[in-house]
Amino acid sequence: MPLALRTTAHSEVGPVRKNNQDSGYASAHLLLVADGMGGAAAGDLASSVAVTQLRALDEELSAEEDRPTGEELLDRLTARVHEANELLADLTADEPRLDGMGTTVTAAAFDGQEFAVVHIGDSRMYRLREGSFARVTHDHSWVQSLVDEGRLTTEQAATHPHRSLLLRVLNGAPNNDPDIGLIDVAAGDRVLLCSDGLCGLVDDVDLARMVAVPDRQESLRRLVAAAHAAGGSDNITIVLADVVDEDEPIESEPITVGAATTTTIPHVSERTQELPIDPAELAAVLVDAEGNPVPEDVASQARALEVHSQDIEVSAVPVATATFAPPATTEDEDARYAPRPEPPPARRALGVLVSVAIALAVIAAASIGTWAVWRNSYFVGAENGQVAIYRGFNANLGSWHLNKLVEAEPVPVADLSPRFQEQVNDTFTVESLQDAHASVAELAQNAEHCRAVRAAADEAAAAATEESRRLAEEEAKRQAEQASASPSAEPTPVAAPIQVVPDYGDC
Ligand code: MG
Repeated sequence: MPLALRTTAHSEVGPVRKNNQDSGYASAHLLLVADGMGGAAAGDLASSVAVTQLRALDEELSAEEDRPTGEELLDRLTARVHEANELLADLTADEPRLDGMGTTVTAAAFDGQEFAVVHIGDSRMYRLREGSFARVTHDHSWVQSLVDEGRLTTEQAATHPHRSLLLRVLNGAPNNDPDIGLIDVAAGDRVLLCSDGLCGLVDDVDLARMVAVPDRQESLRRLVAAAHAAGGSDNITIVLADVVDEDEPIESEPITVGAATTTTIPHVSERTQELPIDPAELAAVLVDAEGNPVPEDVASQARALEVHSQDIEVSAVPVATATFAPPATTEDEDARYAPRPEPPPARRALGVLVSVAIALAVIAAASIGTWAVWRNSYFVGAENGQVAIYRGFNANLGSWHLNKLVEAEPVPVADLSPRFQEQVNDTFTVESLQDAHASVAELAQNAEHCRAVRAAADEAAAAATEESRRLAEEEAKRQAEQASASPSAEPTPVAAPIQVVPDYGDC
């Protein structure tokens, strides 16, 4: 008899983190958890890209007359995960600040008989069947690789200081392939998908006990409570699904949770598309077809092309790219083609005098109060790459600055977490100079914390990369010895060393 799913999903920031970079999705045919990384905004975006892409696939499949099953479903799911990876690459190419973003993906598409599972990273899928609780996915983490080699126990891995280091995530890199496979299910099974905010803190024995609670909502509640009780140091995302006979009524609507509910995915710039003209035409043409200098904004857009067009030095705009110039607005066009008659000179002079007199009166009346407000207004921003406190209004009047630098603090903006960098670069208003000092003190703490986190993550990633290189060399050497001992044996390909990406967390 065909089977169906009843699902529940939950995602939360957790009691410690400041924002939720996890996303999740659950429908009658697709379960998904994505744990984003790369700092605020970037991590949110990465997990949202995964959810948005796979949710779109789920909707597409629901509209198809003959839903794919088995291997065909697995192929469709895998292809869409690769498309999500390409979108991450395009977004990063468009916005350098997103460099380093990535996401885990654990996705299970259901065809009524089995799950097609695509998995990369350290989010997990478990299956509970008749009292037996088993992990379906294999973590792509540094500590898991040490467990696989027998150099760490599972218990040691659970508390290892570098347990969050990942060897593979979806981050736009072309060769980070996910694990794929088909998992059979039966009526009565329950499956759990979760981010490491749960399974990184609560061991499998406790998870099994809570997943076995018959009421699905109560089971979910206990899982969340267990993650909190274990410190709640990370975002927590959980998808639970019961496998039931299809003739039982199914009431669940698709659910999206976490960052994907609020994150907007930017449009990828056309710069990443194929160039519409022959690169040979991108010669140094500094003037347009009529011999006029190319406007700077058009030239800069053309120069941006070189970011994505290797081997091409774009130093100016070719005639063929004149369409990069922003089109004239309708108003501009009206003004150009329907000029209004000029007023007579005398009337025009009188009008100017009256306008100036009114403006001066308004300015004089307003300036007394404005000066007092100006003196007591402060905001925090950046000055030459350092956090700075300004007095006055956060605006300029033409070339006049309506503010004055009060203090430049010894806190480099680049050392802050991405979220605080964004706040400082955008500037934020404070109530008083005292508040400004308090904010700067908080920023200094954040900078110190992030410097330490980044240094530790870089060191751990370098160690992991070095260890991977050493293991690859050892394996190559072992195979060479084996080959010389038995030349007729079929050689096994040696895995390439892995370049480990440091995980900066919120930093
Ligand atoms: Mg996490």
